[in-house]
Amino acid sequence: MSDHHIVFIPVDPHYLPTEDQISRAKAMLWQWMPEAEAIESAVSEYVQLHDCGSNFEYVRCHLCGQELTIPQWHFLMDQDYDLERGFGLTPQTLPCCGSVASVNQLHYSFMQGFSRFSLTAINPRTGAVSPQQTEQLQRLLGHPLLVIYCHV
Ligand SMILES: [Zn+2]
Repeated sequence: MSDHHIVFIPVDPHYLPTEDQISRAKAMLWQWMPEAEAIESAVSEYVQLHDCGSNFEYVRCHLCGQELTIPQWHFLMDQDYDLERGFGLTPQTLPCCGSVASVNQLHYSFMQGFSRFSLTAINPRTGAVSPQQTEQLQRLLGHPLLVIYCHV
């Protein structure tokens, strides 16, 4: 049995919505996804990676477009990660073109990203959310969002 989650995270990894904004956003998701197993919000103490699971296809440099190998990407991720404070999203020299950028600026397919706040629909039994729905949710949460489709 496999699980499909839809995860919404703020574009700014440090952005935290208010309790009130979160409960309204959850109510909206329940309306769209009444058959979901659960709708969960989480706030972590530090910035975390929200990955797309087995939907992962590639990670590319956002500047030169070159695909990074998994070991190259893991190296950058390890360099950026600190047990004490999680991901720092510190600019580093990229192996492809020598540009300096953080792991949060790279292009991921499927989408994945970094944040403290996340709102997750567990097995929503729906397809992709529409741009209009994302916009409504962004208005409720007061911040632009990334939508991550995670298959585990
Ligand atoms: Zn590059």
